[in-house]
Amino acid sequence: MNAVSRIGLGDHGSVTRLVFSIKELRGRQLLIHLMTQAGLKIHIDRIGNIFGRLNGSDPKAPAVLAGSHLDTVVHGGKFDGPVGVIGALEAVRTLKENKVPLPCPVEVVCFVGEESSRFGFSTLGSSLLAGQVRMEHLTNAVDAHGTKLEDVLSSVGIYRDNLVSLTRDPATVKAYLELHIEQGPILEAKNKKIGIVTSIAAPSRLKVVFTGQADHSGTTPMEMRKDALVAAAHLILYVEQVCSEFSQMDKGRVVGTVGAIKIDPGVINAIPGKAELSVDIRSISAEAKERVTRLVKDRAEQIAEDRNIAVDILPIRDELPVALDGRLLPLIREICEEKGIPYEIMPSGAGHDAMQMAKITRAGMIFVPSKRGISHSPLEWTDPQDICLGTQLLLETIVRVANEKI
Ligand SMILES: [Zn+2]
Repeated sequence: MNAVSRIGLGDHGSVTRLVFSIKELRGRQLLIHLMTQAGLKIHIDRIGNIFGRLNGSDPKAPAVLAGSHLDTVVHGGKFDGPVGVIGALEAVRTLKENKVPLPCPVEVVCFVGEESSRFGFSTLGSSLLAGQVRMEHLTNAVDAHGTKLEDVLSSVGIYRDNLVSLTRDPATVKAYLELHIEQGPILEAKNKKIGIVTSIAAPSRLKVVFTGQADHSGTTPMEMRKDALVAAAHLILYVEQVCSEFSQMDKGRVVGTVGAIKIDPGVINAIPGKAELSVDIRSISAEAKERVTRLVKDRAEQIAEDRNIAVDILPIRDELPVALDGRLLPLIREICEEKGIPYEIMPSGAGHDAMQMAKITRAGMIFVPSKRGISHSPLEWTDPQDICLGTQLLLETIVRVANEKI
């Protein structure tokens, strides 16, 4: 874990490994090295998802997959992602060292580009593996320097007409398990060591571009302005207001965020002519999310009309909330009860690779506590003992799933 977090280490202990950056590639390289040392058979697909395989008595049997991601947000922490990859590696290494007999293969997996920080596109590697990416999803995925995700993909040989070729045959996978930090405050508050995840809230993401008129800030009278940033400000307040109205569990536990904004020209003496903002709306209820997203779109259009400016609303991603497997959950709970581990059954507010994998196989998730619920920050912390306990639970779950007859 420490070796991984030294790659991309920045100020105040922050870690930045943006997808397809040199740091992120070095992270993947380290993992390949660790997998080789552990004696795993490595396979890397075209997007760069890494699979380290330990064969069981029947190498042709569907494999149990366990893993997560190594890419991070900008100035993120050390735990979001690596806990699940290194945890799975440690579990498989332990199985190998102890010559634990397995009827089927077990694969440690590291997915590319789980975080959406660079292109506004999340769970890239697992979405491709699950056959969930359509080219129209990629059209609006552009990073801060203008690099298009579509161009990055074509540079590694992935084009419109061969997107589905990365899909993994579901018949080769028995289940997918992901250990992850909670990234929220519930486990700590309830003094529980493990969270067993029921479902994953999904995001709807929009890019909203208000286009007014850039003018001199000294010579343009207030009544003649077409200020795009003021329009954006109204929408930002509305996102907060409407999501608060739907934030209770019975209303769908909706959350909404405007996390990025770009203004043009963005100088002190000019009226902003263009304001581009990102809107991220999530819920564990598809209906509630759709309703709020519609309200936000309607309001954006209303604001533009009232101010006599233009607005473009570009959908980036629209995902459905995902229920995890109904049989893996009781299996994980059974292990917790046998071993006296205090656990909590809970939904996940954050998205994970497991929600894509759930579309092609049975998927289960194990959470370990996040100190003060902080994540996507250098202050992110999970006690080593908690990671250890989560990893042991993952190991035990892998063994039981591998031996399960389905
Ligand atoms: Zn993560």
